[in-house]
Amino acid sequence: MKQRKIPLRKCVACQEMMPKRDLIRVVKTPEDDILIDLKGKKSGRGAYLCGKVSCFKLAKKSKALDRALKHAVAADIYDQLEQDFIRVEDEFLSSKEDEPQDES
Ligand SMILES: [Zn+2]
Repeated sequence: MKQRKIPLRKCVACQEMMPKRDLIRVVKTPEDDILIDLKGKKSGRGAYLCGKVSCFKLAKKSKALDRALKHAVAADIYDQLEQDFIRVEDEFLSSKEDEPQDES
């Protein structure tokens, strides 16, 4: 059986290796904006987080994004990202439900 190689990335908050499509990408653009990049297509330095608000909160608490992006992330940026994260979480989860599951 031919198995497609799934690219793995590490969640910067909980350090777990996860398939890339199960992670939400946060990107620091060349303009130093820090954004959630749902499509994973924006250029810039990226950091990956599990698609869970709990992991975002952990990243916020431990300043994991500062380290991963090599850039100081202000508290208000974290707050803004957290709101965006909550907003995209539903979209992110529902987009995954459209894809065929091959777990069982
Ligand atoms: Zn995580």
